[in-house]
Amino acid sequence: MKYGIRAGHTLKTVGAVGFVKEYDVVRAIKPFVVDMLKTKHTVIDCQPDENSGDNNLTLGINIAHANNVDIFASIHANAGKGKGVEVLLYDSSSTLKAQAQAICNNMASLGFVNRGIKYRPDLGELKNTNMPAMIIETFFVDTQGDCDLYNKVGAKAIGEAIAKGLDSTVATVQTQPTPTDTTNTANTATVTNTGDSTIKSIQSALNSRYSTRLDVDGIFGNLTKTALIKGLQREIGTTADGIFGINTYTVCGNKTNLKNGSSGKLVYILQATLYCLGFDCKGIDSIFGANTQSAVKALQQAKGLSVDGIAGKNTFAKLFGYK
Ligand SMILES: [Zn+2]
Repeated sequence: MKYGIRAGHTLKTVGAVGFVKEYDVVRAIKPFVVDMLKTKHTVIDCQPDENSGDNNLTLGINIAHANNVDIFASIHANAGKGKGVEVLLYDSSSTLKAQAQAICNNMASLGFVNRGIKYRPDLGELKNTNMPAMIIETFFVDTQGDCDLYNKVGAKAIGEAIAKGLDSTVATVQTQPTPTDTTNTANTATVTNTGDSTIKSIQSALNSRYSTRLDVDGIFGNLTKTALIKGLQREIGTTADGIFGINTYTVCGNKTNLKNGSSGKLVYILQATLYCLGFDCKGIDSIFGANTQSAVKALQQAKGLSVDGIAGKNTFAKLFGYK
């Protein structure tokens, strides 16, 4: 079978925004769907250019048509403050009813409310495709409970629910990329705190903010470290390649000067990384207070930096094993 899979929306049409962003969520889920389907099937990536605007639906469909896919599936997340999963089909003659229902059932077993199949002959991805097509509305990004559940179960479990709904015989696979870090061979992170609940919450937050596709296993390893670096890079506005090298160090020089009274997502990255390295800020709340200052000083002391309690580029470099 040849599947055409896409994640909804583009950088110019980002979709629903609630407690998490549809754009990020569907990009976190899609690679798992693709990699699991690939264990048995051909999968065509029907992702249009990220800079395309309202014509992105047509562009995605065009890729499906050009490749003669047998089944087209577009992954979305819902808004409107409802609860749970629904799968949209063109009408009741669709040949995908069993698979759509299986996806809903698999999502329900993860804890999402099962809203079942809906027929939507008005939607472009259903009416303009010349093969059986479905839109998977995974959950509601503007419903706190759904987002909490998403952060708890993770993108991989949802990807598996979708892939195994499409074909129950596909294999579950790990799709996390192996980080390639050529800048610094001393960058090997220490595995600590197996199954730590704080690290789990950090991994969930990174997944929803930065589409990092981490397993939420509470284990701090190289993948989580790479995700933290990507988060840092996104926040300081440089290429998010997950490698802390001279570029990131240089950009940090202008953008990080975190100290008592600072707040925001950069502080979160700082606190989360300190925690993972064993320097406890006594709360990862995105607010740089006395406890965070103490943790920064402890790190600076341990790494031989001047102990000023201010997290600038040298402190971030030590956090991520650069220099
Ligand atoms: Zn959407």
